[in-house]
Amino acid sequence: MLRLRDLRRITRSLRYRLTVGYALAFSLMLIGVGGVLRQKNAASLDEQIRDALDQEWAGLLGYLRIEKDKTTYKALWFYDRDQPDESFFVQRLQHVYEVTDAEGHILSDGSGVLQISEIYESLGRDTPAQIAAVLNSKQPHWEVRKTAKGVPYLIRSSVVYDAEEGRKPFFVAIGRSLADNQHILDQFTWTWIAIIPASIVTGCLLGWFLAARALTPVLEVAQAANRISGSNLSLRIPSRGAGDELDYLIATFNRMIQRLESSFNQMRQFSTDVSHELRTPITAIRGQLEVALFTASTADQYREAMLNSLQDIERLSQIVRALLLLSQAESGQLALQKTRVNLAELVADVVDQFQIPYEEARVRLTSDLQEGFAEVDRIQIERMVSNLLSNAMKFTPPEGEVRVSLQSVPEGLELVVQDTGSGIPAAHLPHIFDRFYRVPGSESSAPERGLGLGLSFVAWIAKAHGGTVRAESVPGTGSRFIVSLPVLSPSAPALEPADATVSSGMNEL
Ligand code: ADP
Repeated sequence: MLRLRDLRRITRSLRYRLTVGYALAFSLMLIGVGGVLRQKNAASLDEQIRDALDQEWAGLLGYLRIEKDKTTYKALWFYDRDQPDESFFVQRLQHVYEVTDAEGHILSDGSGVLQISEIYESLGRDTPAQIAAVLNSKQPHWEVRKTAKGVPYLIRSSVVYDAEEGRKPFFVAIGRSLADNQHILDQFTWTWIAIIPASIVTGCLLGWFLAARALTPVLEVAQAANRISGSNLSLRIPSRGAGDELDYLIATFNRMIQRLESSFNQMRQFSTDVSHELRTPITAIRGQLEVALFTASTADQYREAMLNSLQDIERLSQIVRALLLLSQAESGQLALQKTRVNLAELVADVVDQFQIPYEEARVRLTSDLQEGFAEVDRIQIERMVSNLLSNAMKFTPPEGEVRVSLQSVPEGLELVVQDTGSGIPAAHLPHIFDRFYRVPGSESSAPERGLGLGLSFVAWIAKAHGGTVRAESVPGTGSRFIVSLPVLSPSAPALEPADATVSSGMNEL
């Protein structure tokens, strides 16, 4: 048994609605076409009967003579009674006819027979007023009248003048039954009415079938989409190869899943990286505390264990702070405080701050800064320059050199930090802006291990200001980091998360 819920589901389905739509359109079209055809048929049948009556009228003028007999006028029929064609024609005329004088008196023929046929009598004699109207008008008068039994007749009436002087007008009407025409039209109508339900049923079946054909691929797409979940985002909906709208939908859908997959993978990678980063210091703290607990005996040994643990705890809190900043940036909570800043001054300040650490590291730090103003967040740009300078220092051996330059370019301002350090192998260059990415072995000579978040934060700051950052490097010779910033930053009021490269500036946190 079909339950109400099922019925509601069916009636809400696209297939049902399409079918009803098809059937409705089909029926309306049929009714419309039927109506037009009936109208056309009626008009052409009407035309035919009028033509026939016009011809009969022309014949009548040849056979009917109205002559004066002493004081009265008589209607006389002149035709060859031996001629079957003529006899038939005149009899046909006399089937529905009436001849009266201007006052409405029916004329009689030579033998006293009144010139009105039985059928005409049942259609009703014409009143003097009607007769006067016809006689006054020069045009033939057309009228549909029904007999007492309801049979319709088309009547054509007009003037016939007396035969002698041709001056006295007489009223003559002839007619033809419309019953046959009516019958043809009725038959047409009924046939059409009988066809409509059958056509609607056929239309429904056809609509149901066509809708199913059109919708099956949609359902298949939906089923395929249903099979895709967080754990198997690598699945794709197969294209049907028809190149139609559905294939376009499938392609769009697949692209969406691909984007989802890559964000899922990034998230997964991120969680793995974070846990990995957190695990190392935690394991170290745990080891140091265990050693202290079980083997330390002097205060110095305890002190050393606690110092080591504190260093690791500091690293942990650096990571946590960086992650917090990162999540704020990603959720758009970190709004840029933009002001008009002289970038040359800003960069010079940061370079000054780095002079002493650079001297200690025995690396030469020089700058060549061209005046340039831009709408930027001072703190973030300082953080960006610091990250680049601290990296350059970290990866440049003693006696090396780091050059900072700022110059105007057609797109805005270009900040370049160039070092004579270890360089970055080409295979690693595309990844250095990724979160937690460190070039393996690059830190062997560095004083301390970085978190791999500094450059991703640099990339994020550049992008948030509507700019870009790129790196060029020749391993063993040095690296160049080029930041391009537009002079007038985009109008975005809040900081947009910068895709995968969003990260926190760690080097100075
Ligand atoms: P980290 O905190 O480890 O420096 P970054 O995101 O700042 O993290 O840098 C990512 C990696 O890119 C570094 O681990 C290093 O391998 C490489 N790198 C960055 N700057 C330089 C540079 N100036 N010279 C050579 N390698 C660099």
